[in-house]
Amino acid sequence: MPASIIDGKMIAAKVHEETAEEVAVLARDYNVQPGLAVVLVGDDPASRVYVNMKVKKCKELRIYSEKHALDKTATMEEVLELVKKLNNDSRINGILVQSPPPPQIDEDEVVAAINPAKDVDCFHASNVGKMLIGKNDGFVPCTPYGIMMLLERSGVDPSGKHAVIIGRSNIVGKPMMALLVQKAKGANATVTCVHSRTKNLPEITRQADILIAAIGQPEFVTADMVKDGAVVIDVGINRVEDPNGRSNYQLVGDVKYDEVFDKASMITPVPGGVGPMTIAMLLHNTIKACKQQNGIV
Ligand code: NDP
Repeated sequence: MPASIIDGKMIAAKVHEETAEEVAVLARDYNVQPGLAVVLVGDDPASRVYVNMKVKKCKELRIYSEKHALDKTATMEEVLELVKKLNNDSRINGILVQSPPPPQIDEDEVVAAINPAKDVDCFHASNVGKMLIGKNDGFVPCTPYGIMMLLERSGVDPSGKHAVIIGRSNIVGKPMMALLVQKAKGANATVTCVHSRTKNLPEITRQADILIAAIGQPEFVTADMVKDGAVVIDVGINRVEDPNGRSNYQLVGDVKYDEVFDKASMITPVPGGVGPMTIAMLLHNTIKACKQQNGIV
């Protein structure tokens, strides 16, 4: 039977609506406006698009935002100086440094310099640690958080299910493992993570009740790698040549959508699945940061 589609665009729109309501309450009851600073170093075209999308969404939701665009020749000292300034700026509750920066910038050092209370992207070791031990006063990284939200709002309870994650990056795969394995409502899964060194990978993915693909390999997951009735979450965003020649490129995920669609019980499309949730959770985290910094419960 064909899968039902998990509509990330619709679920993200609902999360944005809830964020806008929170912004309105903060303004009305506390005279506070949440603020997000986005730092872009260099001229990577995809990063520029992501940063502009984030700033645009902030405007729509009446979140104060600042875009800081530094030249591709910016030094570590300049980036760290800016982060320090934003750490001390009371209008700014959340700071995001768009990844990847140019090679002269040590991303780990930059992330470590961000005040953990403003680390709404959740890359700082303090927030990653809190997430791992299940403490709720830090932040959750936006893409895995968005996936947890997609599962929850689509009525998928991971409890007791076998979740297989393909990919072990710090941005997606590893935090995804940590979230799904928590002893907590909406989690409690049995988790396996596979990667480029895994032997017999399809044998493992075929055991998945929930299969999450985050590898950056166009249409890697084929129908023969998926169990009948699995829930399939496709994180991948890959640019490939448009076979119809209508535009320069086409976006595809890490899952061969058309054939897996007939095997899965639920599936996220690309685009319009996980992607829209990432910004939604970033702004959700920004509200949380604002409340924490203003002592609002
Ligand atoms: P990374 O490149 O950081 O990590 C890729 C992971 O996939 C690695 O763990 C790698 O294994 C594994 N991998 C690569 N090739 C294979 C293979 N052939 N077989 C098994 N494992 C493999 O990628 P990210 O996690 O940052 O991103 C993954 C995808 O998700 C990309 O397409 C990216 O664009 C997309 N993405 C989408 C987001 C969204 O908002 N929707 C947000 C973030 C990412 P190893 O560790 O062994 O090298």
